[in-house]
This record gives sequence, C-alpha cells and structure tokens, in this order.
Amino acid sequence: MTITRFAPSPTGRLHVGNLRPALLNWLYARKQGGQFVLRIDDTDAERSKEEHVDAIKRDLDWLGLGWDRFERQSERLDRYDAAADELRASGRLYPCYETATELDIRRKVQRNAGRPPVYDRAALKLTDEERAKLAEDRRPHWRFKLDQTRVTWTDGIRGETNVDCGSVSDPVLIREDGGYLYTLCSVCDDIDFGISDVIRGEDHVTNTATQIQIFDALGGAATAFAHHSLLVDEEGASLSKRLGSLTLESIRDQGIEPLALLSYMARLGSSDPIEPRASHDELIAGFDLNSYGRAPARFSPGDLTALNTRILHTKPYADVAALLRDAGVPDAIAEPFWHLIRENIEELDAIPAWVAILKGDCESVVDAEDADYVATARARLNAAKPWTAETWKAVTADLKTETGRKGRALFMPLRKALTGRTDGPDMAALLPLLDR
Ligand code: GLU
Repeated sequence: MTITRFAPSPTGRLHVGNLRPALLNWLYARKQGGQFVLRIDDTDAERSKEEHVDAIKRDLDWLGLGWDRFERQSERLDRYDAAADELRASGRLYPCYETATELDIRRKVQRNAGRPPVYDRAALKLTDEERAKLAEDRRPHWRFKLDQTRVTWTDGIRGETNVDCGSVSDPVLIREDGGYLYTLCSVCDDIDFGISDVIRGEDHVTNTATQIQIFDALGGAATAFAHHSLLVDEEGASLSKRLGSLTLESIRDQGIEPLALLSYMARLGSSDPIEPRASHDELIAGFDLNSYGRAPARFSPGDLTALNTRILHTKPYADVAALLRDAGVPDAIAEPFWHLIRENIEELDAIPAWVAILKGDCESVVDAEDADYVATARARLNAAKPWTAETWKAVTADLKTETGRKGRALFMPLRKALTGRTDGPDMAALLPLLDR
C-alpha cells in the first residue's frame, strides 16, 4: 500500500515552504488510495514547542488535509536507542569528540587549502587511550560511517539521481547531549510505519543518499524518494528568509480560502496550469507527480490573491451561511445578499464592511454639489417603501425626469449616499435588502 508522511519539526509555524511537501505527500497518498501519516519530528526538546504541534494540526485541519496516523518522534526514543546499538555493534556508528569550534577551524583550513570541508574521520583514528582521555571531560557525538560509494536512486521527480558519498561528511546521528538527530529517527520511522514514498524538498537530496545507507545498515528496504524544487520569489530569489512571514496562519488571517491556497500550491512548479479547484477530490483527480519539474517554483502572493478572488466569486452560499449569520446578516436575506456581494469582494474579510452597509452603519458620502439632489432622492425613496426589486428603477426614472440628471450624475450620488462607496453590486438588487 502507498503510505506517505509529512514530518514537520514543531520549531515554528508552518509556512508555504512546508505546505509543499505536506500537500504533495497528501495528494500522492489520496490519489493512490493509500494512507497519509502526520509525524512530528520533535527530538530537539529545546526548540520543539507544544503550541507549534497544535498549530500544525490546526493548519492542516483548516486546509482539509486529514491524516490517518499521528506519531511523534519524542515518544519513540527506545526504538532509536535500539537502532543506535545495532549500528554501534556493526561498526557503523562511532564516537567523535571534536567541539563545534574545532570542527569549524578544521573546515576553514580545508577550504583555504581548496579542499571540500568534509569531516576527516579523525575520530576513527583515535587509539583506545586517546579516546578514554578525551572522554574524561568531553561527551561524544556519534557519526554514521558512510560507505564511500556512489548512491543511486530513481527519483520520482528528478529521475536518475546519484550522490557520491565519498565527498559527504559522515552524518552526526546523536548529539553530544544524547539527543537524536532526525536523520536516524526518520529512517527508523519510515521502516516501522511502512512508508512507501517520501516526497520532500531538494535540500534533502544529500540526506537521502546517507539515509539510503542507513536503511541498508538497519536491514530495512528504502522507500521511494522524490525531491521537489524549492520556492523562490517572483524575481527568482530564495524565499527562505521571507518564509517566516508567509505562515499558513497569516495567509488564513488574510482571508485566503483553503482551496485557493491548495489549488495554487498543488500546481506551483508543475507543468499544468494553475486553476481554481472546487474540491479536494478535484485536486486529487488532477494531481500527477510526473508533472513536477526541477525548476524552482515561483511563489507570487499576487497570483494567490487573484486565484482566491476567482474562487470567492463563485463560492456557494452554503459555504458561508454560518459566517454570514455570525456577521449579523438575517437568514431571510443572507442568500441573495451573498450572491450580490461575492463578486465585489476579494476576501472574506470584506464581509463586515458590507454588513455595515446592509444595516446602514456605514458613512454616507454626499458631495456638496449633490446635497439637494440627495435630499430629494431620500424623500422619494422613503415614500417608495417597502423597497422591492422594482423600486430602484422606478425611483431613478422619476428622479431623472424631475432633476434632469442622467447617467453617472443620476446614479453615483445615490450609491455613495447609500453605501459610502463608489463601487459595489447592482443597486436595484441591493436596495430591497437594505435595512433602512
Ligand atoms: N523534519 C524534517 C524536515 O522538516 C523532515 C524531512 C523529511 O521529510 O524527511 O526537514
């Protein structure tokens, strides 16, 4: 069975960069009729926060990306202990005593000499005595001893991919404080949870090579891997520094619809056009991992807003009924009200302003030169109550005859007086809904 997973570290809020692997893994699992696991990579006790775990769940719930299984690495430390013992026993995990500063200096020296800053395996050359001496006042971190060979796999997006592990540092799997790095934990989890496919960012390509070796060393079959490109901004520059402000929470707060964000993100970096999708099922049906390429995916907030607007303009009343009720729109007129305003708003946040117009709580705008005209119109409109679908046409026809005004001069002062704005829906349809 296809089983994928999304494995965020709860060290901050999810942003659009995280959404890419979340969505691709979810879509892939759903398309294959498989399962989707949410795994929290929280072995870094200092940086992991419970509030971020809650926020991750809230964000995925908001987007409708449900999971079939929930796991967290902090509850599986026994399993990682066992795996570490196994690797130690087979000589693949070795203790190192260098401090961060020492390693830093060593890397600088290597760079200055024109050599790649790869860990030189000095710890493997220590004698037992030297090791015992270092252990007197230092605690070791532990590295995985890579086979210095070329690791090859068929990547679901990049095609044939290989990494020469001869030019990669032996990865640290256990920190000096005994904490596990995700590199080892992830392999244990992928084996134990039967993960069949891992889709993640191309910043993990080297990790994949080392993890394929760890799968092998632990006697597990490696999953299939696909590495998607990373997001860049409209100018093609890395988004990494700006991702902090592109959190899913802030996008939700801007009034972006879940399906707008999903429709947009599902097609970024793919050869298929970006189109609004009306449901998750439609998204799944249109998903094809083969359509993604290696080129960076350009994230444009403007394109997202434009897509959101397109989705909002056709949003069915049922989807917003509760929202309108909460905003104080009477049930009796809520549906026609929604159909009128949806094409005039860019985000749901704009609803309260229209509710204020509905209730007459808006600032009436009357220019000095229109004051007399508006006063006359007010009298005529008041006399024409109750307002119906015909009222606007009839009253403005009378006003035209009475005042000689026509076109914009006839209509705009009335729109401004009644709504406080120069734009908005058809006044003939709006008038009967106004509560004046
Ligand atoms: N916690 C890792 C990360 O967020 C997971 C990477 C992976 O999908 O394997 O980078």
